[in-house]
Amino acid sequence: MSEVTDQMRRHSAAHLMARAVQNVFDDVQVDIGPATDEGFYYDFDLPHRLSPEDFPRIEAEIARLIALDEPFVRKVVSRAECAQMLAGQTYKLERLADIPEGEDISTYTVGDYVEMCRGPHVEHSKQIGVVKLRRVAGSYYRGDENNKMLQRIYGIIARDQAEMDAILAREEEAKKRDHRRLGTELDLFHLDPEDPGQVFWHPRGWSIYVTLQDYMRRKLVKDGYQEVNTPALMPRSLWERSGHWAHYQQNMFITESEKRLFAVKPMNCPGALEIFKSRTRSYKDLPLRLAEFGHCARNEPSGTLHGIMRVRGFVQDDAHIICMEEQIEAEVAKFCHLLKDVYSDFGFDQNMKVRLSTMPEDHVGDEATWRKAEDALAKALVANGMDYAIQEGEGAFYGPKLEFKITDALDREWQCGTIQLDYQLPSAERLNAEYIGADGKKHHPVMLHRAVLGSLERFIGILIEHYAGAFPLWLAPEQIRILPISDKAAAYAQKVQAALAAAGYRVEIDSSAEKLGAKIRAATVAKVPYQVVVGPRDEAAEQISVRSRADGDLGAMKLDAFLARLAAEMKS
Ligand code: ZN
Repeated sequence: MSEVTDQMRRHSAAHLMARAVQNVFDDVQVDIGPATDEGFYYDFDLPHRLSPEDFPRIEAEIARLIALDEPFVRKVVSRAECAQMLAGQTYKLERLADIPEGEDISTYTVGDYVEMCRGPHVEHSKQIGVVKLRRVAGSYYRGDENNKMLQRIYGIIARDQAEMDAILAREEEAKKRDHRRLGTELDLFHLDPEDPGQVFWHPRGWSIYVTLQDYMRRKLVKDGYQEVNTPALMPRSLWERSGHWAHYQQNMFITESEKRLFAVKPMNCPGALEIFKSRTRSYKDLPLRLAEFGHCARNEPSGTLHGIMRVRGFVQDDAHIICMEEQIEAEVAKFCHLLKDVYSDFGFDQNMKVRLSTMPEDHVGDEATWRKAEDALAKALVANGMDYAIQEGEGAFYGPKLEFKITDALDREWQCGTIQLDYQLPSAERLNAEYIGADGKKHHPVMLHRAVLGSLERFIGILIEHYAGAFPLWLAPEQIRILPISDKAAAYAQKVQAALAAAGYRVEIDSSAEKLGAKIRAATVAKVPYQVVVGPRDEAAEQISVRSRADGDLGAMKLDAFLARLAAEMKS
């Protein structure tokens, strides 16, 4: 017996949904319905306009069909036989005509329903599990807008109802954590529809941004990076030499001054090499690790943008390591180590997935060099105890790359970190970077492009959803809120604020006329890690009452004791 995969279960669910829709509605023409990474869909043409209100009826029919536990039977048939089986189904017959003469025509029958399909499928319908329909959307036949618009229903599957309930609960939770919603609720940023994909950071959001940058800077110093900054506008001549003008122009914002063309940089790479080339370099200068939080802009179609996760204007935690070939492996190993270190600080340490993309069909450089480079990347992973999967032929045309995926609190995967090996940009054909080797001769270095967080914008979006807006103390825009119980405690509240601010904390006072209960609620909604309640009695006893977001009411304590607690938490 072969293994039943999720793909097989989803694809089989699509067949049963097509059958169910035909059972429930009249005059249904079915087109096709594949499995996707999330679930499955199927395209229909029927007079009735489908809506989510129809889902319970269709779902009940699917459940009934699953319960019949009928086998999926494969049969290879002749063209004529198949045409007979599909009689009356216009789209299916057109699809049948697409199959080249002489090719096997495979069909699957379950109960009275037959489908022209390569499979594979489950053996019997109960193996599908539980099906839930999610949404309906328009979809042009064969993806061509000149064709008729069909109705596409999307669905998902689970092994049983308990698993389905968990999936739906997680979806609900993801909606609540949506960074666009929390970005507004927590007053972190806004976006302007007139200026697509450009983020307006508000004080609280920007506080997170710079805290994250400062954090990365400390890590970079430890790993021997030097920070640089290069112009946002660079001339056409440079982009022509780098290859971007020919290969990336459609993504670049271009402007003119004094009859010369300039582009807003979509990447920092050429700038880093210009710095390398600004003076004579020796092999003793290598590896040179140049980090840049450079603001980049890419002209992405506005329809593909998503909150702050996919934007047009962004800053990467970018760096370029310019080195000799024999230094690649050690540099990649060092990077993997940094990556693990950073991700574990955000609680992402579980199940990091790594993919090594190898030489694509369309590439520059000879195969031996490529294989050596791929080997160096693989060895560095092994040295760090990291498992990886190979993506055959998925590398960039200039070199192989590694991609790192993290898993967030909702078990969703995000690709953030990447390191790409580049023989091309420093070469004589491109930006012609050189160093003097130990042999006294000129050589071209190789270049590693790498980012740990990816773009700060996207990473903050991920963090907002990962933490559900409840940022850890070190990252929280407002770390402590002081809640005076009345005006009588106003002076004492200011004294406490001054002491905490002097110790380096971001502290605000809620001096509104609200009652204490309302102030506590507001601070809770704002997800402030610590609330400090002060009243006249606290002042007399020289103490404060502390509530922690994580641990609840901590009671009265001396300011020094609170500072010690904060310091310990910051350290961890
Ligand atoms: Zn780069």
